[in-house]
Amino acid sequence: METLAFQSEARQLLQLMIHSIYSNKDTFLRELVSNASDALDKLRLESFRDKDMKVDVDDLHIVIESDPAERTLTVRDNGIGMTREDVVRLIGTIAKSGTAEFLRQLKDQQSSTSDLIGQFGIGFYSSFMVADKVTLVTRFPHAEKGVRWESTGESTYTIEDVDDAPQGTSVTLHLKPSDDEDRLPDYTEPAKIREIVKRYSDFITWPVRLGGEEINSRKALWARPASEVTEEEYSEFYRHISHDWNAPLETIRMQAEGTFEYQALLFLPTQAPMDLFMRDGKRGVQLYVKRVFIMDDCAELMPEYLRFVKGVVDAADLSLNVSREILQQDRQIQLMRRRLVKKVLSSIKSLQSSRPDDYAKFWSEVGAALKEGLLSDHDNRDAILEVCSFASTHSEDSLTTLADYVSRMKEGQEHIYFMTGDSRTAVEHSPHMEALRAKGFEVLILTDPIDEMWVDAVPAFDGKPFQSVAKGQVDLETEEEKSANEAKAAEFGDLLTWMASQLEENVKEVRLSSRLTTSPACVVGDAHDITPTLEKMYKAMGQELPKIKRILELNPTHPLVEGLHKAFGAGERDALADTAELLYGLALLAEGGELADPSRFVKLVADRVQRTF
Ligand code: ADP
Repeated sequence: METLAFQSEARQLLQLMIHSIYSNKDTFLRELVSNASDALDKLRLESFRDKDMKVDVDDLHIVIESDPAERTLTVRDNGIGMTREDVVRLIGTIAKSGTAEFLRQLKDQQSSTSDLIGQFGIGFYSSFMVADKVTLVTRFPHAEKGVRWESTGESTYTIEDVDDAPQGTSVTLHLKPSDDEDRLPDYTEPAKIREIVKRYSDFITWPVRLGGEEINSRKALWARPASEVTEEEYSEFYRHISHDWNAPLETIRMQAEGTFEYQALLFLPTQAPMDLFMRDGKRGVQLYVKRVFIMDDCAELMPEYLRFVKGVVDAADLSLNVSREILQQDRQIQLMRRRLVKKVLSSIKSLQSSRPDDYAKFWSEVGAALKEGLLSDHDNRDAILEVCSFASTHSEDSLTTLADYVSRMKEGQEHIYFMTGDSRTAVEHSPHMEALRAKGFEVLILTDPIDEMWVDAVPAFDGKPFQSVAKGQVDLETEEEKSANEAKAAEFGDLLTWMASQLEENVKEVRLSSRLTTSPACVVGDAHDITPTLEKMYKAMGQELPKIKRILELNPTHPLVEGLHKAFGAGERDALADTAELLYGLALLAEGGELADPSRFVKLVADRVQRTF
């Protein structure tokens, strides 16, 4: 027998369980039955793939046994079992993505613990909410010996080989004394066990037996008439497949008859899954064929940008040993996926119109993922744009849809104006916004990293082109202003040419601006240049980019620019070179850019300030 230490994260989680942070302790049984059911699914699947496997899969089932005298409760399955390595890896450590984040948040105590638990299925460890010792005996089909694992949930566990372990896994809980004050019911009572299984695990497709009797109805929810399934049943099923302890925000059912029959039961989450933006995060839905579980995380049925959608698709006409390769090539599967995506998007759309508050919360949780679809899913681009919301200068605290933006567009306004940046403050204070603000145009404020990408790929919404206020020429002038500006441009012509040659290392053009009202200068990109934020992102990813020269725009009404113009006319040159550099530096700083040589800039400013004394 060996005694091993739990990994430190595992220890922390166990402490949480022992001190019962979650008030509904009954759920431990759901977790054990859910694990057993997964183990049976895996064994059946394995027996399809490996015809030579010598295991009996005729009577796969889950048995619950209780012993009131010994105060034990056992959940046993004859499923896939675990090898000794599996036990150490799966039970002794927490390898799940998101765990580290979960524990970090817990330490910060930013949110209440039960909120956090909601995002994180705790699985097997929840046994320690009700037991002071847990014994697990398991055997993997190909292993000669079984394994016995035991722990009191403190810092260590023991593990040893056993000779006579039956196929599968049994988990025995040595229950804490039942105690009404602590609201710990007597889990050895058959009526209590029956009640919990009925409430949480009725839909499990394998038989759950208690005293020789089957206590679950085993009806697949998606195969029952919608009118007969209660909200609570949907919620429990959702928890089973998603490991999210919250109820789903929306339940979506679909049914297709005809040549390719299938049923789908999909869920939108209330909270973003922990792993939404993790590289190895889970994606895709579960695939069943005629009620038989085939695979988890079937990414072929749900595009990556909808990875927060959980659920089941049950197809009637697939072979039971269908592989991912086949799925990828199957035309019927692709058609099915297309219909699923449309249905999900239309469900989000109706959420938006019928439950605006729920939609707003949903958007704040998963919007950044959904927007990835603007890049990857051409066919549904318009449908995605319709369900997007954005921050805007129209309101400080609520988001706007594009349709609402368009309805507020000013007479003669042709573009949907936007600006990307690191934060709302940075965007609002940017010199690029001045003229738009002065003229009362609404500007969308886009601060998600993904925004930098899709704005280059999506040309228009509802026939109205998107226009960055920091790129290209922003055409806001009236005819009168235009001719006045042309006259100014002619007047400033020599200065602009001279400045362009002074700053040629950094800018490709110097011109007068129609977007500035109070700042002296700003830098802008050409319509197809990448933005400074995107440039920073690429650099952060270690990507080398060629130096990007942008355009310096001057505000001809600003005293600094006027003064420069006058001095230039009077024939001065040497001192003006410093002023030109100074203006460029100010423009860079104003948009949150970085100076190539800060100490030189400081010297220029100090010299300039000295001269005014
Ligand atoms: P989760 O089920 O969320 O992955 P658990 O802590 O409940 O997390 O279980 C960890 C892992 O241990 C499971 O993913 C599974 O691989 C394995 N496991 C747990 N219970 C069983 C069981 N009854 N039979 C086989 N494997 C199991």
